Amino acid sequence: MLPSYLALAESGELTRRAARLVRMLEACDICPKDCGVNRLRGEVGFCWSGAEAVVSAIVPHFGEEPCLTGTRGAGNIFFGNCNMRCAYCQNWQISQDWKGQRRNAVSVEVLAGAMLALQEQGCHNVNLVSPTHFVPQIVAALAVAVRRGLRLPLVYNTNAYDSVPVLRLLDGIVDIYLPDLKYSDNAMAKEYSVAGNYVEASRAALKEMYRQMGCDLVVDEAGLAPPPHPPQRRRGEPRVPPLHRRGTLAGRVPQHHGAVLPHE
Ligand code: SF4
Repeated sequence: MLPSYLALAESGELTRRAARLVRMLEACDICPKDCGVNRLRGEVGFCWSGAEAVVSAIVPHFGEEPCLTGTRGAGNIFFGNCNMRCAYCQNWQISQDWKGQRRNAVSVEVLAGAMLALQEQGCHNVNLVSPTHFVPQIVAALAVAVRRGLRLPLVYNTNAYDSVPVLRLLDGIVDIYLPDLKYSDNAMAKEYSVAGNYVEASRAALKEMYRQMGCDLVVDEAGLAPPPHPPQRRRGEPRVPPLHRRGTLAGRVPQHHGAVLPHE
């Protein structure tokens, strides 16, 4: 599978998109928090992130969905900091210890090198984990990495707290969206993740991902696409209507253990 960004790189559009996204950092509205800070001058907003991306780990990973890990692993790049504050985060040291993460700030060139290193290790893709607050740096690094030979598909592995205008700029760049939809209740999103507008933002984001990618989960002959599993519900818990009954995506998006996988 040839990644979709190659055509944009050839036409020069990838570089133009990167420049446009980097300019957005001057009054940051990269995510629905819409902080308005000038990250290029070192100001930080809710995600505690400035001009450079923060990369906590670069590793072939076998803990993702089987259709991503295959036999040689997904090429995970774990980004530090986050645009949410989930009380239950299993990666707290990475997502919320922003002081500790300052030592992991990397240049665009280093991030490009990380993508290429994962390719050299044989990974099936570049799996961007918690990429939302670093989309400009990622696209800028991608443009550099493509010039240096990157050919892996790009996975956007997100908390779904994404901005629609930014997602539109990723159209034709991302090959696979992997949004972890977390809440259908803003009060809970606010209490447990400090994201009081999560429901509207994430649904708009999912609709945009769906607009770009359609609904078919396509894997190659070695891939695996497991059937959707119904969520486990304890006795007495309120029933949460599945996404397809809410009328927005009408059951057309494959779901896997709570994740939604609009692939192409
Ligand atoms: S990316 Fe960070 S600074 Fe920008 S709007 Fe989101 S939380 Fe605020």
